[in-house]
Amino acid sequence: MTATPLSIDGATQLLGLIGNPVAHSLSPAMHNAALARMGVNAVYLPLPVATEGVGAALAGLAAIGVRGINVTIPHKQTAMPFLQEVSARAQQVGAVNTIYPLSGGGWGGTNTDVSGFLYPLQQLDRPWSASTAIVLGSGGAARAAIQGCFELGFARVVAVGRSRDRLLSLTRTWSQLQTATWDELAALLPETLLIANATPIGMQSESDPAEIASTPLSLEHLARLPREAIVYDLVYIPKPTALLKYAAARELVAIDGLEMLVQQGAIALSLWLGGREVPVEVMRRAALAHLGLD
Ligand code: NAP
Repeated sequence: MTATPLSIDGATQLLGLIGNPVAHSLSPAMHNAALARMGVNAVYLPLPVATEGVGAALAGLAAIGVRGINVTIPHKQTAMPFLQEVSARAQQVGAVNTIYPLSGGGWGGTNTDVSGFLYPLQQLDRPWSASTAIVLGSGGAARAAIQGCFELGFARVVAVGRSRDRLLSLTRTWSQLQTATWDELAALLPETLLIANATPIGMQSESDPAEIASTPLSLEHLARLPREAIVYDLVYIPKPTALLKYAAARELVAIDGLEMLVQQGAIALSLWLGGREVPVEVMRRAALAHLGLD
């Protein structure tokens, strides 16, 4: 299903996504479906931008009065120097994914990935402040997940990565963060309440169809987790991933990355529309339909 705006006329406003590539993004389907349902005269477009063009693109988009911009890979960090205001949370994470026009001109930026990550966890009642969370990976998604785990109040957050330099750079942001290598992971599992996969392992890939069957944790790993553990895979294609199939087989709470994607988009859209309530279920259904899962 392709969502279309109500109509385009002289008053239609523009929203969009800058990144490279952007062609496979679910965001246009989600946002345009919500805009249509809300009767907002605006359209959301994917806007491919090369890294060296980010500053020029943002200046041009400001000049034509664009109402809001999402930022995706590889510009979540490179866009930051071109913003006049950056939220405390985005500064902490070191990345923006949502940009909005400032009343005095120029752009402000924030990070709605953290709230998106937190949303499914906030629906659960768990003793976060007495528990350990493990985040697999040390890239952009891992940074949002780590910030989310600290905001949720986890007593201990451990990032597991394969690059010592990237792990070190995480501890420069969060001094209380602990780090571990993949070899050390198995020993940590028995005392873990939440394990979040923020690597692309298990993601459906056109270039490597075998990747779909891969998983960052084996069944033996999952058997070491306590019965109340939550397995959160930020990857959302395929749905479910091999990791979440394993988690369900062990009757653990399994959360996929689609809800994070939907929620970060809903929060961004509400921000651009002055705090209006947005139809989250319409966005969720549009994302599922775009993935052929409706
Ligand atoms: P990224 O910045 O490229 O980071 C990827 C991380 O995964 C890096 O730490 C990388 O390690 C690690 N990694 C990659 N392949 C690995 C492997 N085979 N073994 C061990 N570690 C590996 O990417 P990202 O933006 O963080 O995205 C990561 C995943 O999260 C993607 O699948 C993306 O789709 C998903 N995501 C989901 C949402 C959502 O809303 N649900 C939002 C953002 C991202 P090195 O540092 O050693 O290379």
